[in-house]
Amino acid sequence: MHLSRFPRVKLTQAPTPLEPLLNLSKHLGGPNLYIKRDDSTGLATGGNKTRKLEFLIGDALAKGATHVVTQGATQSNHVRQTVAAARKHGLGCTALLETRVKDAAIDYYESGNVLLDQIFGCTLETRPGGLDMNAELGPVGERLLAAGEVPYLIPGGGSNPIGALGYVVCAQEILMQANEQGLKVDRVVHATGSAGTQAGLVAGFEGMNSGIRVLGIGVRAPEEKQEENVHRLAQQTYELLGIRGELPRSAVEANCDYVGGGYGVPTDGMIEAVRLLAQLEGILLDPVYSGKGMAGLIDLIRKGAFKKDENVVFVHTGGAVGLFGYRDVFGSPLKPA
Ligand SMILES: *Cc1c(COP(=O)(O)O)cnc(C)c1O
Repeated sequence: MHLSRFPRVKLTQAPTPLEPLLNLSKHLGGPNLYIKRDDSTGLATGGNKTRKLEFLIGDALAKGATHVVTQGATQSNHVRQTVAAARKHGLGCTALLETRVKDAAIDYYESGNVLLDQIFGCTLETRPGGLDMNAELGPVGERLLAAGEVPYLIPGGGSNPIGALGYVVCAQEILMQANEQGLKVDRVVHATGSAGTQAGLVAGFEGMNSGIRVLGIGVRAPEEKQEENVHRLAQQTYELLGIRGELPRSAVEANCDYVGGGYGVPTDGMIEAVRLLAQLEGILLDPVYSGKGMAGLIDLIRKGAFKKDENVVFVHTGGAVGLFGYRDVFGSPLKPA
């Protein structure tokens, strides 16, 4: 897996820490939980899109692009990291924000990521929920081309084989740290959405014959669809890397029992997980992804899905900025004295 063959810019403060969650492990009575701090990737308050953007912005620059176009939900962490990465490399950025979450409080549309997008200088357009958002990128690219720009289209979540390379790098990093720490990793668990993170991790761990299994906790699509999406992208990533053979379908496992009312809709489990990690470990999860991912992990632990002595690594994919879009869910107004 010779990753320096691919155009790449440096955006990530890596390696991100791999550290034990001692208090949470004790609270739950095992297994041994660890956390991979990809919330601390460094760019624009961090998160998992930063690793993908190293290869995507690298590719954009290699192709002579002047303007990046991407899409996401209103509180997209991907859009926030993309605009910051684009600006840092002298590129303009336009983002299409899908009104995907219904009946959210006003903060959802005004604070958190969508506020930071504006500070980073992104041109924002909105779209109604339910469109094929990646298909919406094409006409915007045409418009920019006609205006003399060289557009570079990045799909939602940065999830194509080029972006997934960022999580092949993360798989290599986790394995290196585990070997250094003398830690035998039994499982890696994380929140899965547009599938690039899991596809990259699975392609990396399989390609290195690590024996490490990955479980994605879904935040949007039903299970079968999610596994199909991850498997297809992981296979494409394998091909891009030039790894021979098929990526086994059995290496792709998602659990989509923790989506609740839908993408971005709070669940009791998510609220509990966010509070637990904050109050036991001093770590902020997010309401849309890592909070639901951790809620799934906690519930599976309570149901006995892991042995007490297993070593489980939760990949914290970031997103805490999104908490400010969910002020009504977590806080109550304090009356000034
Ligand atoms: C995008 C995102 C994910 C999901 O990663 P995918 O590669 O889209 O599956 C998880 N957590 C956070 C905080 C994200 O922003």
